[in-house]
Amino acid sequence: MDIRYEECKTLKEKPDQNNLGFGKYMTDYMFVCDWHKDQGWHDARIVPYGSIELDPACVTLHYAQETFEGLKAYRREDGKIQLFRPEMNAKRMQKSNERLCMPAFPVEDFVEAVRALVKKEEDWVPSAPNTSLYIRPFMFATESALGVHMATAYKFMVICCPVGAYYATGLDPVKILVEDELVRAVKGGTGFTKCGGNYAGSILGQVKAEKMGYDQVLWLDGETRTYVEEVGTMNIMFKIDGEIITAPIEGTVLAGVTRDSMIHLLRDWGYTVREEHLAVSDLMKAGKEGRLEEVFGTGTAAVISPVGTLRYKDDEVVINDMKTGELTQKLYDTLTGIQWGRLEDKYNWTQTI
Ligand SMILES: *Cc1c(COP(=O)(O)O)cnc(C)c1O
Repeated sequence: MDIRYEECKTLKEKPDQNNLGFGKYMTDYMFVCDWHKDQGWHDARIVPYGSIELDPACVTLHYAQETFEGLKAYRREDGKIQLFRPEMNAKRMQKSNERLCMPAFPVEDFVEAVRALVKKEEDWVPSAPNTSLYIRPFMFATESALGVHMATAYKFMVICCPVGAYYATGLDPVKILVEDELVRAVKGGTGFTKCGGNYAGSILGQVKAEKMGYDQVLWLDGETRTYVEEVGTMNIMFKIDGEIITAPIEGTVLAGVTRDSMIHLLRDWGYTVREEHLAVSDLMKAGKEGRLEEVFGTGTAAVISPVGTLRYKDDEVVINDMKTGELTQKLYDTLTGIQWGRLEDKYNWTQTI
């Protein structure tokens, strides 16, 4: 892939690394590449970050033909920058795009685009503990016409922003509401894709949970509302009687890179990990009987999010006295250790820029 560069006239001032938050400060540059049905992918470029003009009839604004990804670049103690399994994000985006009838962006080009943009923005990769550069690749239809069909033109872009330590003072258990009315995904739908539409449909559940004093929603399977699937932007794992259970990847749950990495670590440490359906009634029963030892969400943003409370209808269980479990902490320390280059990466998951 040939990347054309266009330089900024002035660069932005970098924000305070101790106050980055999430997704607030965009960097100086962005990657852009266009697709047209007659030309394929063309005009790859890294240009000054800025607004893009869209026709009001742009199909994405009406029919949500949009997919995205999320990964991070990490600053190691020796100053080098590294990525974590970026080809998994590239492949997942291809799967999302296939489902939404959008063109595939080649895996090698995806990784090259991310590497080139991070290289260009290397000064933006923060070095304060547990901060990183969040990278957001995304694709959308740009054709202007109101028909519902596969579009003739798309844009693939990558933007990035430095993000703060997710937990300022150690892991902080969250309160989760099991949603028993609204659903996120059904078999045959788009639940396994990272497409904008999935998230638009999930906000109402999140609003409801927050109104009731909970941090996040745990979605049940869309057909029977019996089995636990995942949290809004995280996969979820349960440690019951010493074994780990998480929902299988069968079309409704997102195949998280963090989920996959945790499963590798857990199996390596000798744990049994079962990718199986778990009924919410069995989960609550295990909680009541004191067999639900730990619960944690997994995703790129937080890495691991310990769950302290689970509420389902009128029932509530508290997990591990609202404290972060031992295994949760060990998984967090190990994975972040590999991601920030503090621990040896025997799995070959990282690549330096
Ligand atoms: C992004 C996402 C995840 C986590 O995936 P990672 O690759 O681990 O970041 C899980 N569930 C949903 C719905 C997501 O959007």
